[in-house]
Amino acid sequence: MVQGRFRAAVSPVRRRFDAPPSVLPTVNEVIAASSPGDPVHCIRPQTITEAAAAFVASFPGDVLYAVKCNPDPRVLRVLWGAGVRHFDCASAAEVALVRRMFPAADIHFMHPVKARAAIREAWADQGVHDFSFDSQDELAKILAETGAGRASGSGGAPADLGLLVRLAVANDGALHDLSGKFGAAPAEAAALLAAARPYARRLGVCFHVGSQCLDPAAWAKALAAAAQVVAQAGVAIEVIDVGGGFPAAYVDTTPPPLAAFFAAITGEIARQPHLQGARLWAEPGRALVADGVSVVVQVLHRRGEVLYINDGVYGSLSDAGRPGLLFPTRLIAHDHRLPSPAEQAFQLYGPTCDSLDFMPGPFALPADVREGDWIEIGQLGAYGAALRTAFNGFDRAQLVEVRDDAFFAAGSDDQCTRMTTPALQPARAALQPQPHK
Ligand SMILES: *Cc1c(COP(=O)(O)O)cnc(C)c1O
Repeated sequence: MVQGRFRAAVSPVRRRFDAPPSVLPTVNEVIAASSPGDPVHCIRPQTITEAAAAFVASFPGDVLYAVKCNPDPRVLRVLWGAGVRHFDCASAAEVALVRRMFPAADIHFMHPVKARAAIREAWADQGVHDFSFDSQDELAKILAETGAGRASGSGGAPADLGLLVRLAVANDGALHDLSGKFGAAPAEAAALLAAARPYARRLGVCFHVGSQCLDPAAWAKALAAAAQVVAQAGVAIEVIDVGGGFPAAYVDTTPPPLAAFFAAITGEIARQPHLQGARLWAEPGRALVADGVSVVVQVLHRRGEVLYINDGVYGSLSDAGRPGLLFPTRLIAHDHRLPSPAEQAFQLYGPTCDSLDFMPGPFALPADVREGDWIEIGQLGAYGAALRTAFNGFDRAQLVEVRDDAFFAAGSDDQCTRMTTPALQPARAALQPQPHK
């Protein structure tokens, strides 16, 4: 099959991993059994199931999983099993992957700038009926490629087309600001809503408050802005899409509970007459999958408080290469010794020859960590494997499904959290953030 030829290509949508065993082991069993020299991606299906099922059960609308966050087929299958039926896709390849796996899925093409061929294929061949846009040009493209403009213009019934105007909103509460690239300013967004109305069976507004947004009020502010746009447009809408950005837990970051975000959303909608009666959508990525994957790396070399490991920012650790997120770590000693109870802060270098392949951390580990030891790095289910490249030849990884619980939970009093946090304080204060991309 065609897929095989992409074995070493950079597209994670097409990358294949080694087959997992049929009975789920624990992470320690995997390491003991195979002494892996390549990074091992450990999927915890139960953890993903719990996060996704909780989101689906408590969000008062449709939950569209943002596929780019983690497009691994095993992850998608777990999400489907947990009740996710809608998928936010942004490319022809994502659309095709989801459709191949789930013929009954509702797929929404939520990238505001799409290739014409991707729109055509999604509409004509893949049963995709919802598209986002943030300009008149993109609206014209969608209408042309779906034939919807033609159908409506000739007096026929509008096609089953959903049109979502992407509104620019402030991203100040988020770790990753997405506001510069996409989104129409309010006056333009109002004009786009009015222009799209005649062609849309579902007209809506969407936005993204930025990834890893810890402030529920960001959604309330965005919804208030959306309400003004709808009022200015003078048309009814059927959909309000509150986007993604729902946070995950990292070391020293304990997000408010999901209920606080949903309460801010429903509370603001209740205050806005122009938003009432519309169907709610959300596009979570990170919040569904971050907890569900860890990566076990091996120490290749130790130089003082710096460890050289076999994965890095060109692999599944790109988020660890920029300041902002602190990832939990756990040592798995290679020689069955009892690791030192004293913890120390370490920085990590990835396997490539690029000096930017650096993860400042700090990462808390037993002081006697040494070559050959493995380190399990948690909370890598979101934007981890999805961002891997084949740079410098380091594209091999093994993927296994494991049955143990995530070894890290924000605010929990487990051993990892307790040991990690105090050990990091002095080192963190001394560190300068090192942006690298
Ligand atoms: C990336 C993205 C998401 C998911 O964002 P998270 O921060 O992972 O929840 C949702 N919607 C759109 C349009 C995106 O680009």
